[in-house]
Amino acid sequence: MNGLMMQKQLLISSLIVHADRHHGDTEIVSRRVEGDIHRYTFRDCHRRSRQMAGALTALGVRPSDRIGTLAWNGYRHMELYYGVSGMGAVLHTINPRLHEDQVAYIANHAEDQYIFFDLTFLPLIKAVASRCKTVKAFIAMTDRAHMPQDAGIDLLCYEDLIEGSSPDYAWPDLDEQCASTLCYTSGTTGNPKGVLYSHRSSLLHTYAAALPDALNCSGRDVILPVVPMFHVNAWGLPYIACMVGAKLVFPGPALDGKSLYELLEAEQVTLSAGVPTVWQVLLTHLEQTGQEFSSMARTIIGGAACPPAMLRQFQDKYGVAVLHAWGMTELSPIGTVCSMKPKHWEMSYKDRLTIQSKQGRVLFGVDMKIVGTDGRELPWDGVTTGDLLVRGPWVVREYFRSEGGNPLQLDEQAQGWFPTGDVATIDGDGFMQITDRSKDVIKSGGEWIGSIDLENIAMAHPDVFQAACIAARHDKWDERPLLIVVRKPQTDLTRDELLAFYEGKIARWWKPDDVIFVDAIPLGATGKILKNRLREQFGEYLRERAVVQCAPLAKRSD
Ligand code: AMP
Repeated sequence: MNGLMMQKQLLISSLIVHADRHHGDTEIVSRRVEGDIHRYTFRDCHRRSRQMAGALTALGVRPSDRIGTLAWNGYRHMELYYGVSGMGAVLHTINPRLHEDQVAYIANHAEDQYIFFDLTFLPLIKAVASRCKTVKAFIAMTDRAHMPQDAGIDLLCYEDLIEGSSPDYAWPDLDEQCASTLCYTSGTTGNPKGVLYSHRSSLLHTYAAALPDALNCSGRDVILPVVPMFHVNAWGLPYIACMVGAKLVFPGPALDGKSLYELLEAEQVTLSAGVPTVWQVLLTHLEQTGQEFSSMARTIIGGAACPPAMLRQFQDKYGVAVLHAWGMTELSPIGTVCSMKPKHWEMSYKDRLTIQSKQGRVLFGVDMKIVGTDGRELPWDGVTTGDLLVRGPWVVREYFRSEGGNPLQLDEQAQGWFPTGDVATIDGDGFMQITDRSKDVIKSGGEWIGSIDLENIAMAHPDVFQAACIAARHDKWDERPLLIVVRKPQTDLTRDELLAFYEGKIARWWKPDDVIFVDAIPLGATGKILKNRLREQFGEYLRERAVVQCAPLAKRSD
């Protein structure tokens, strides 16, 4: 017997309809590429999203057509989030930090019909335009007064499209299983792969992510997503804000410490979200200026492991509670959030910090387990490490156009589960902790060494700005940990001082074999450290060092 409840489809357009009707005067504030601050309301955003949907229909865009964006976090991007998905087309957010060859590759792979871009990315558009075979026009996200002159390619103007279109457009009643959004993985190995979200998966993710034990968002919040709208929908925050009626603040292209701090303060932001590398820049700015936050209460840190030293700095020095979260493009993106259970509040602060450093427990809807190399499930004891597998209604089933084969067919034991490529422990309370990316694991004499643990210790040193630990090849042990470090400005930390800092904190054989100081560590398009690049550069360092050290001896024996 079926239930007798209404079959109402879960649609992205319903979020902006709700925000307009119930939080119509709540603000969306954006730092524009043009340089100024723009502010309007959810009601305005809804009106202009409908106008954009009407304009796209007039341009011939049909349901399921892919529409690309190369854009910062801003109100026009938000309008495309709703206008494009709401009309039944697929919003394809392209990461502008990718190499131009990859941008051209994914625009062609997605068969984008139109590409919207912020003016910052005009040079990129010029570089790829002739290679984007399916694109009918490029649309500059600006007004007529700021349209580029002599661009050398035909451009449409965003504001002209809006002005020429009526707000009478009515959202279609789509099937919730329809594709809404397309986001490609960053593709550090092989071609980027497309993850195609549906209206249903996006709405379920939004419900779950907003809950108190997840991101804990409400209409009382002012949310500034530093995490880009071109990378997994800014962790869902543009949808969550509409669901709960939170004010949104978009930083545009200005992601330096000073600009971010000014906006956080000016708009009295209560909740922000970003990767550790961005926060490191902001914290360094605060250290240098002695400034403090007057409104920020919480920050979500994810995308890479949050070093405990950063956690402490936010909480102890600035009174900002850290929520550590883990996810992937393939998970829409949130899988776990490290939200305390009541019993954790009875622990000492020091013990609670140990829990907070974990990536946390799953949102309802996500199921996870760790397995050994034979595919068998491993115990949740907080110590045993294994490959992390997940499944759930907002987890990828198959990549767009079957790129890279079926990700779910790992082996018989793991069928129907998505292999994340992360290595993790899970404790008895279901708190998961990533120890490594499986391809970054250091295997010394057959034993695993967790690179994240070693990086976290380095990051706790007051003179360290950034640290990455890689597996360097070693004649005796196969691999040994090698630390690559960027010092903070005006510090002269030495190798021996940093290695001494490890004493008593880990087993002695885990201590890195050496430290290399560099000016900068290469970051990928989503702000993650590119360890494959570091391995290419320094992977042979320990063996080469051994040869150099042996050289005088060899001479003597001559
Ligand atoms: P992406 O799809 O680009 O968002 O990358 C997903 C990957 O980022 C995951 O598989 C993890 O390896 C890593 N990641 C995300 N969040 C965390 C976290 N909190 N701690 C450690 N690694 C993380």
